[in-house]
Amino acid sequence: MEHIETATTPDIPSIPLTDSVSIPQIGFGVFQISASTTQQAVEQALEIGYRHIDTAAAYYNERGVGDALRATGMADKVFVTSKLRNCDQGYDAARVAFDTTLANLGLDHLDLYLIHWPFPAVNQYVETWKALLELQQEGVIRAAGVSNFLPEHLRRLIDETGKAPAIDQLEVHPSFSQPETLRFCKDHGIAVEAYSPLGHGSDMQAEPIRQAAEAHRVTPAQVVLRWHVQSGRVIIPKSTHAERMRQNLDVFGFELTAEEMRGISALHDPANRVGADPATFVQSQSWANQKSRGNIPD
Ligand code: NDP
Repeated sequence: MEHIETATTPDIPSIPLTDSVSIPQIGFGVFQISASTTQQAVEQALEIGYRHIDTAAAYYNERGVGDALRATGMADKVFVTSKLRNCDQGYDAARVAFDTTLANLGLDHLDLYLIHWPFPAVNQYVETWKALLELQQEGVIRAAGVSNFLPEHLRRLIDETGKAPAIDQLEVHPSFSQPETLRFCKDHGIAVEAYSPLGHGSDMQAEPIRQAAEAHRVTPAQVVLRWHVQSGRVIIPKSTHAERMRQNLDVFGFELTAEEMRGISALHDPANRVGADPATFVQSQSWANQKSRGNIPD
């Protein structure tokens, strides 16, 4: 890619994670984008104006992200997150996994590193967390966080290490917004990053969302993303279509009313999870495991 238009990039607010690290509130998620098309998708996202990319070792496309950062010369302008797989939990394994992630991305440090799942069945997440805290002290990760951690898992990290994660990346969308976990995070100063922020595409037909879209002359997806932004959450919508990628970044030109916000929040139903339940998720996330579950497209 020869040319990156930064002049037309909208101003994306940032959310503080530590005294010195802030995360752009909207990022581009690359789950289920194939290894062969990730470079192109990320280059397109950067051209459109994204400056925050969310990948994971378990997506098996970190190299594509790294290739895009190198090809565009934008590595130092982009906030990069990756995550540690379940099969790499434990202190020693986590250190090795981090080196592999860094090599795949071709970076000398990572902005944010997350434990992908608590994986309570093997009960190693506290030891894994200690490895992340050490990586942070060494300066190779700027911020340390978790994903899919419920209050009981977060409490153990805090009780046993004295250090809360900077952020918890959780499934949050209008029809499944996990109010108890969000409250715990707020009470403990943990930022929340919503994954599957559009409900994996499923939440857009709900009546309060359609009505707000009509009232503000925007799309239902923009209403949902605006609801997150006004709630103070980081979001990482994924799309492989340029027009949608643009739309998903363009949510700062309108404001939902308090009533509209309440109406959308009221859609929550604990039965509406689109991802796995962190309390019981026990997949290894090895390549073969991810492939067999349809998480790695050809
Ligand atoms: P999203 O809620 O982002 O939804 C993505 C789906 O919505 C795709 O089918 C996409 O289709 C469609 N879509 C995107 N934008 C629009 C739009 N403007 N209008 C209509 N449809 C749209 O779900 P994901 O599950 O993909 O999650 C996003 C990111 O969250 C992932 O890429 C990953 O980074 C992260 N994640 C993290 C998890 C974790 O365990 N930590 C688990 C799951 C996701 P199309 O691509 O065809 O445009």
